Amino acid sequence: MKRLLILGGTGDAAKLATRINQLPQLETIYSLAGRTQAPHIPLCKNRTGGFGGVSGLAEYLKSAKINFVIDATHPFAEAMAASTAAACIQTNIPRVKFCRMPWKPKVINWISVPNYSEAAKKLRAAGKRIFLSIGTKNLHYFSMLSDKWFLIRVIENPAHPIPLTDCKILLERGPFEEIKEHTLLNNYHIDVLVSKNSGGEQATKLRAAHNLGIPILMIEQPLPPSGKTVYTINETLTWLSDQM
Ligand code: NAP
Repeated sequence: MKRLLILGGTGDAAKLATRINQLPQLETIYSLAGRTQAPHIPLCKNRTGGFGGVSGLAEYLKSAKINFVIDATHPFAEAMAASTAAACIQTNIPRVKFCRMPWKPKVINWISVPNYSEAAKKLRAAGKRIFLSIGTKNLHYFSMLSDKWFLIRVIENPAHPIPLTDCKILLERGPFEEIKEHTLLNNYHIDVLVSKNSGGEQATKLRAAHNLGIPILMIEQPLPPSGKTVYTINETLTWLSDQM
């Protein structure tokens, strides 16, 4: 019996793990950082919590006798992707990055920025009431914008105080219907939407903002670490069967 570690933390990753867990001759272990109280849990073995950087993960891979690794973390989980790549090189364990295809501007246009600090710079001259739809981890990049009002939407109460002068926290878990997003943007008089290009199925907030003529500032995905990348469950299954 071979052993597979899946680094997860998203709905897509949980779906992938549940699908892979049906394969014979393979034991699947799904790993979560442990940030959310009610994460998507797949139907397979689970573990929770950081490994302790590259060396901790390399140690875990050896002691748990892992044969393959799928990094299915969110496209913006850069630290985990980097340490997974490094630990797999160190231990000579095959790894693939399960990516989400970034959204492409077509009908809906946006202003692309490469990172949070560039988004904050652009916001200085744009808008007063901002829907900052990026989670809570990187809000400090926006803390100097003390003349702006922010709408923050999260699935559970933030563990730390929000570093913004004037904001409203909404506790809600998606998916959100476009009509609901439309109403939200209207009710809070939002004049700029800031989003991460999380990719996958296009978010309804983008269509709602587009239809209301609200400018969108898009923080583009960081590049994944070098190495094999896959974008679908089928591609991942093919990669896995090539390794077995
Ligand atoms: P990150 O900055 O890349 O990771 C920070 C640290 O958290 C890592 O160094 C690692 O600790 C631990 N960690 C992250 N993912 C882990 C996993 N799947 N299993 C065990 N430990 C993990 O990640 P993040 O942006 O804070 O995201 C945390 C988790 O939330 C990820 O699993 C990600 O898939 C999920 N998520 C992130 C986003 C986002 O926008 N960033 C959105 C939705 C879901 P050690 O160094 O101690 O191993």
